[in-house]
Amino acid sequence: MQKMVILGATGSIGASTLSVIEQNPEAYKAFALVAHKSVDKMLDLCIKHNPSIAHMVDPQAAAELQRRLPPHMAIAVSSGEDELAAIVALPEVDCVMAAIVGAAGLPATLAAVKAGKRVLLANKESLVMSGRLFIDAMQGSNAKVLPVDSEHNAIFQCLPEPAQQAIGACDLAGAGISHILLTGSGGPFLSSDLDSLSQMTPDQACKHPNWSMGRKISVDSASMMNKGLEYIEARWLFNATKDQLKVVVHPQSVIHSMVQYKDGSVLAQMGNPDMRTPIAHCMAYPQRISAGVEPLDFFKVGQLSFLKPDFNRFPCLKLAIDACEQGQEATTVLNAANEVSVEAFLASKIRFTDIARVNEYCLSHVEQRSLDTIEDILALDSLARCAAQERVAKL
Ligand code: NDP
Repeated sequence: MQKMVILGATGSIGASTLSVIEQNPEAYKAFALVAHKSVDKMLDLCIKHNPSIAHMVDPQAAAELQRRLPPHMAIAVSSGEDELAAIVALPEVDCVMAAIVGAAGLPATLAAVKAGKRVLLANKESLVMSGRLFIDAMQGSNAKVLPVDSEHNAIFQCLPEPAQQAIGACDLAGAGISHILLTGSGGPFLSSDLDSLSQMTPDQACKHPNWSMGRKISVDSASMMNKGLEYIEARWLFNATKDQLKVVVHPQSVIHSMVQYKDGSVLAQMGNPDMRTPIAHCMAYPQRISAGVEPLDFFKVGQLSFLKPDFNRFPCLKLAIDACEQGQEATTVLNAANEVSVEAFLASKIRFTDIARVNEYCLSHVEQRSLDTIEDILALDSLARCAAQERVAKL
């Protein structure tokens, strides 16, 4: 029985993870559920899954949860960042699903990595921010990091076994790989009139044609910043160079990414767009378990198409690719600026097209210092957030 901690249990990935656990109750147990302050959702999850620990990062939310839990349930309720770092490192924890959204996920994800756990990585922002430090921590502790993001999970599945065992230090060329082809649907605005983009509402941006996700990643998909963050994530996970990484727009989201070999072969991983597939793959790797996902019906799919990304339509993607080339300071600034600009867009304070403007402004105005520690990263993250907030206020 694998005991799992689910960071971000009340979110979209959290729900999919719990659904896979429900499909395989003999093999997995939700040992600890973690959220920020969604008490109603956490209460429902506690009653349904009966974890040993329910952790709300917000202390008031934890106190309310404690009050509302039925007295007969023996669930330890806790709160706070330090306590969370201790939970992921508990000896009885086998596996940690890292699915807190945004930079907030970094400390707990890194704590799980440092504790040498099996870490299922959905929180791409933590790798975008901490890149080298994350990989070094993983190698130092022998943690097993498995990529949950559907694209990285697809790439992982298309790699030869020695490369799968060398996450963070793969020798792609040595494995005969010429390119990683990172696919992305292009989101809801792929074919919209360019002039209409500035008028798009948060609800329109969150209406993804293929995937059902949290609001932040949905907006990132509409701007293709999500693909940009994934590009940076792929750079670190697969030790890939700029020449080895290509982005391919694939509107149907049936191929989740591909690996191209020097003999001309291209391996693709396909499936219905349902996060339970990559989650189940990571939970069971190298075995396979049932995920509760409908089998792919090629007759329903009909056609697959592919396009080059248009940087005019998706300036955030270009910003991310350039930031990846500049280095970890730039990707940390970009990630922080993007969290602020997306939040401002979701709160209808700025227009959709302003997201890229705020991000670009921060990349060129925030002083980028060298990042040797997690404290350095968090300090640069704060600086970039302040700059982004000031910029948002002026728009
Ligand atoms: P959601 O917005 O649906 O859920 C976010 C989760 O994070 C919630 O449980 C929320 O708790 C928790 N959270 C937010 N802030 C904090 C905080 N400060 N401390 C602790 N917990 C916090 O997000 P998603 O599930 O969509 O995405 C989660 C991560 O997975 C993101 O990094 C995303 O990029 C990545 N991902 C998501 C995919 C998807 O299909 N959804 C696909 C691939 C990657 P609360 O409810 O209490 O606020």
